[in-house]
Amino acid sequence: MDNETILQLLEWLDASTCNFLAVKTITSELDKAGFAALNPSEGWDIKPGGKYYVVKNGSAVFAFVAGTASPAEAGFRLVAAHSDSPCFKIKPNAEILGDGGVVALNVEKYGGGILYTWFDRPLSISGRVMVDSGDPLNPETRLFDLRRPVATIPHLAIHFNRSVNEGNPLSVQKDMKPVIGYFSREEVMDTAKKGGFVKVMIAESLGIEPTDIIDYEANLYPFEKAGVCGVNDEYMQSARIDDLSMAFAGLRAMLDTCDKPCAATRVLAVFDNEETGSGTKQGAASPVLRNMLDRIVTLYGGEADAFYRSIARSFMISADDAHAWHPNYGEKYDPTNHPVIGGGPVVKINSNCKYMTDAESSAIFRNICRVADVQCQYFVNHSDVAGGSTLGNILTSQIDIKGVDMGNAIWAMHSARETAGTSDHVETVKVFTTFFTL
Ligand code: ZN
Repeated sequence: MDNETILQLLEWLDASTCNFLAVKTITSELDKAGFAALNPSEGWDIKPGGKYYVVKNGSAVFAFVAGTASPAEAGFRLVAAHSDSPCFKIKPNAEILGDGGVVALNVEKYGGGILYTWFDRPLSISGRVMVDSGDPLNPETRLFDLRRPVATIPHLAIHFNRSVNEGNPLSVQKDMKPVIGYFSREEVMDTAKKGGFVKVMIAESLGIEPTDIIDYEANLYPFEKAGVCGVNDEYMQSARIDDLSMAFAGLRAMLDTCDKPCAATRVLAVFDNEETGSGTKQGAASPVLRNMLDRIVTLYGGEADAFYRSIARSFMISADDAHAWHPNYGEKYDPTNHPVIGGGPVVKINSNCKYMTDAESSAIFRNICRVADVQCQYFVNHSDVAGGSTLGNILTSQIDIKGVDMGNAIWAMHSARETAGTSDHVETVKVFTTFFTL
């Protein structure tokens, strides 16, 4: 195990308990490495070799190192991933009072998580609040993370449902409400006057008044820290491995290569809302990336067709985790193409084009792996299973760019605690680093 790379990944995963904090983790590292933040509402001054990033909605980030040649001559080299993971979002007016002063929270599911993995765990809350800035059209954003276990979703005892282990349908509205404690009538009344327990807890963590909070986006997250397991530390476990492990592999590669001159413009694109179909202004189905690339090309000057020439010379690695062969469910997998944990990065292939991979882009990726001296493997669905989709083919509806869909093989995708391979992460960092320096 490459200790340093893995320990850093685990630390980044723990710091990134929601999409907003994932972007903050990335931008803090970019700041340290000398990247300049560009404001979309102001003019950009881009110099060849310069390091920049743009944040969208606080939940998507696009970092780039301007090429020593113009994109029209040398193209873009992109690694794309996503910042969001399935979780529970806390609704407004969330508090539901029960017997004995018990307070539960009204929540909505975000994305397609494995619900029962969220039971009986210590949970915390993070997200963003909007506070008054004096300008009604531009409220101020404050990020928060309670960083203490304030909630749990208790499962019903087996004695009330003896057949629980034979399948147990779950309702988000009924079964998944987290409980945050029990309180006296006075405490409940007093807190209600201040805006409710959620606002009071968040305000306390930020050192502001609950009434300062105009609105919030808050999500539950599993409080346990990321860690390694397995006899030889071959596995790592955490919430949000999909897809922060890929975002952070891209970040590591970008930080390690950003000071080496390269003719191509290197881009790390971390979108939000992949888990809900990418259909937001900060998602891959929006023009956000296309607009940014267009803007960079324009600032290099050149002919009117420079943008189209740039895209024709570009290559994208769409990086999102893949399903590892599971020893208890071998029948679910394709008989000859089932990636294993520890087998290296995975090229994803789908004949119905749910992935952007084709023979040409797969060959390019395999060539990069060969140069990096890294083994790679294929994922193809069992022919009777529909499978999932990811960023690549959604992005191609906005930009007709050549690219490959890949990821690392993980178990329990969308569980509250997913499992991946430590060596695979190190190998993928190597591949991305090679891609950014070829
Ligand atoms: Zn994903």
